[in-house]
Amino acid sequence: MRTERRGICEMTIDRKAISEVLDLMKTTTVVAVTKTVGSATIRELATLGITDVGENRATDLLSKKAGLCDLPLVWHFIGTLQSNKVKRVINEIDWLHSLDRESLAIEIQKHRQTKLNCFVEVHLTDEPTKAGLLPELVVEFCQNMVKYDKIVIVGLMGMAPLNADEGLIRDCFLTLARLRDQVRDLGLPHAPCKFLSMGMTNDYKIALACGATHLRLGRILYCSKARD
Ligand SMILES: *Cc1c(COP(=O)(O)O)cnc(C)c1O
Repeated sequence: MRTERRGICEMTIDRKAISEVLDLMKTTTVVAVTKTVGSATIRELATLGITDVGENRATDLLSKKAGLCDLPLVWHFIGTLQSNKVKRVINEIDWLHSLDRESLAIEIQKHRQTKLNCFVEVHLTDEPTKAGLLPELVVEFCQNMVKYDKIVIVGLMGMAPLNADEGLIRDCFLTLARLRDQVRDLGLPHAPCKFLSMGMTNDYKIALACGATHLRLGRILYCSKARD
């Protein structure tokens, strides 16, 4: 007879993965995605050499950051940002990876005190649930952001479909890279658009081969250990 072992899941840091990530950090920015772990684990990540962290919920970012203000961490917001959360969180972040609509730009302009580095999020898949601006709207959207002097378009962000084959993932990332080139080559002062935020645990090697400058890595950093 099989006995069910139902353990408590506890995330711990995978030391071997961290050494690989530190290696990646020599040539690219790695945003350690910390949405599944608490402040103590983030503090440990910082001790190990992680410099940039990413959260996808405003309330989580605020509560975790409050306990870590003694650390020189760079805070990235990587999730969909609801307009009604902008006021509370926008002056607590250094980079926003998910600018995807003008109504969000208006809220940022209203509440942000200094210029904010923003990636425009682009919808790269057929999946209706994924956030982001349609590719054909990106160039005009970026031009239009000149109206908001708190916003600097530093690059484009995108996600490939989760379980697609390598060829399709590569097509998504190359589409994003070409769009980035198009915006960058306009030479707009408010939109230098040099960077590409793409690549997660499953597909970061493909993203790197396609020119990613900012990887957003979560699961690879942790091992979940089951306890009785
Ligand atoms: C969770 C998340 C990631 C990290 O994904 P992993 O598969 O855990 O590496 C990256 N980007 C966004 C927007 C996320 O929400």
